Amino acid sequence: MSATVIDGKAFAAKVRGQVATHVTALKNDHGITPGLAVVLVGEDPASQVYVRSKGKMTVEVGMKSVEHKLDADTSEADLLALIQKLNDDAQIHGILVQLPLPDHLDEDLVINSIDPAKDVDGFHISNVGLLGTGQDSMVPCTPLGCLMMLRDHHGSLSGMDAVVIGRSNIVGKPMAQLLLGDSCTVTIAHSRTKDLAEVVRRADIVVAAVGRPQMVPGDWIKPGATVIDVGINRIDKPEGGTRLVGDVDYESCAAVAGAITPVPGGVGPMTIACLLANTVTACCRANGLPAPE
Ligand code: NDP
Repeated sequence: MSATVIDGKAFAAKVRGQVATHVTALKNDHGITPGLAVVLVGEDPASQVYVRSKGKMTVEVGMKSVEHKLDADTSEADLLALIQKLNDDAQIHGILVQLPLPDHLDEDLVINSIDPAKDVDGFHISNVGLLGTGQDSMVPCTPLGCLMMLRDHHGSLSGMDAVVIGRSNIVGKPMAQLLLGDSCTVTIAHSRTKDLAEVVRRADIVVAAVGRPQMVPGDWIKPGATVIDVGINRIDKPEGGTRLVGDVDYESCAAVAGAITPVPGGVGPMTIACLLANTVTACCRANGLPAPE
């Protein structure tokens, strides 16, 4: 195996440490405690795990954490009323509605009812537009975490060929916008892309956000390329039980790549760290203070 393993767990711990320092300064110098509200509708087990771990880390960095757990049959009107209350609450600087929502709730309507300044997930249509036009916005946490790891590893990304596999609104599209913002030449691939292997072979940077276990084999990777694996897939182990794997075949890709993120321990921990960083940014902006770099 030749690739450098990009340790997202260690990097995320560093980012959380920086967030904690900013939170302490906000408290000591300005008497402000950043607050993050997480809204969970229903009992999806994976969502419950994410929400628990977000709440725990929010408290660990010294911020105020508020959790609203609503029944799966909560009406749209009740959910919108709660979001309005959080929008109006000066002690809450970030609002996150855990997705997916139950089918009877209109996800776009709900997300777009969040005050864009508190939209720490960066999914509100205003933030999508600001990101697309290169203006200050709330940047979606998963792609932001990927970008931070790429910048940390490469320094400048200018002129690099990047291929993003996946075009979802929460990962693929914002990832492509961020890479474009850093002057990469960006290709977005998806399920209709012709000859995906050839497209990926051109890339200096491959970001896989597909949701298909181990789909990208090592012989698609240009020698020395950097591979960022966003996928989180649970598969059965031959000996029984399950394990988490990404969207790339780690062993064969690591043998050719210059650098690669593992699953688990790569993109996942960075996502929560970026959520906390976004909450501090939102808090600073709300109080007319300079946001951390
Ligand atoms: P979506 O299902 O919303 O999007 C998947 C994308 O992959 C679609 O654009 C789809 O194309 C494309 N795709 C599907 N099959 C193929 C194929 N055979 N060849 C090329 N492209 C294909 O997923 P998400 O973006 O929400 O998530 C992607 C992965 O990232 C998942 O494993 C998810 O669990 C993980 N994830 C991890 C996070 C983290 O914190 N680490 C956070 C968020 C997601 P088309 O549009 O044509 O259908």
